[in-house]
Amino acid sequence: MNTDSSAPAVAIQGLTKVYARQGRGSSKHALDNVSLTIRRGEIFGLLGPNGAGKSTLINILAGLVNKTAGTVAIWGLDIDREPRASRGAIGVVPQELNIDPFFTPRELLEVQAGLYGVPEAERRTAEILEAVGLADKATSYARTLSGGMRRRLLVAKAMVHRPPVLVLDEPTAGVDVELRQGLWDYVRRLNAAGTTILLTTHYLPEAEQLCDRIAIINHGRLIACDTTKALTSRLDRKEMRLILDGDLAALPPSLSRYDVVQKGPREIAFRYRPSQVRAGTLLDAARDAGLGILDISTEESDLEDIFIELTRAPAATA
Ligand code: ADP
Ligand code: MG
Repeated sequence: MNTDSSAPAVAIQGLTKVYARQGRGSSKHALDNVSLTIRRGEIFGLLGPNGAGKSTLINILAGLVNKTAGTVAIWGLDIDREPRASRGAIGVVPQELNIDPFFTPRELLEVQAGLYGVPEAERRTAEILEAVGLADKATSYARTLSGGMRRRLLVAKAMVHRPPVLVLDEPTAGVDVELRQGLWDYVRRLNAAGTTILLTTHYLPEAEQLCDRIAIINHGRLIACDTTKALTSRLDRKEMRLILDGDLAALPPSLSRYDVVQKGPREIAFRYRPSQVRAGTLLDAARDAGLGILDISTEESDLEDIFIELTRAPAATA
């Protein structure tokens, strides 16, 4: 592998992909000047709504889609100058569960190892199947495997050549909750053993739990890239709901200097920035306005809020 250990796991500069449109209509910018760096050893999440360009980005890394412009280096290896070596540094679990139905898991891994030139003596088919919980299915036809098992088989397939970077495109699609947990446990173990992970997911709470850093793309553009913690605090927004002890005909004028709305006859909600306004100040204001407070609840913004907020901006000329 590359000896330059200062090179990032993945370095993407000005990555652009334009798919030629069939028939009438303009061409499609699936990726528009995306730059980002994935560090060695991290779990990096790529988030974005359907059609954002996540799979396009991943397929370019995998050498399955040709980029229109920009540069990509995997483990310090430029994908144009060293296509073979760079492909050897990455294992990709595709979004689609395409597996030849008449192969067994053992055969599939052996074939894959052969494709990557892994010598017989260095193959570890049994060990990998064990790790993804498919040891007892080693000789069953793939067509008899459930969706969750197929997904795990594809993870196993991506790991046969021991790549330092593992990429998972929407790995939880079609995987039930229990198996999803098992899959994430395995991904965490791989990461703890030194594998850098890049994943895309729609499960934002999971991204929040799993990822060290997160990039958000929308309409092919990078709209945020930060630590999970910084992204969540970036919004700096909370909501405080007050349940009142009597009906309220209208909001007291003295509260008009706050961002407050009436939610029901006996419920109002303040929206505020915790960095600037203390909850106690809002409570005092409500009491000073003569409101009797029966109950209070507050809500933090989570990644879902940030995601919605950041992706709400309409696309410029897409
Ligand atoms: P995501 O994985 O985030 O859902 P994709 O990368 O699959 O997004 O797609 C990004 C955009 O590129 C979408 O508008 C999609 O329709 C378009 N696209 C993807 N693949 C092709 C293709 N082979 N030919 C033309 N357009 C494509
Ligand atoms: Mg996709």
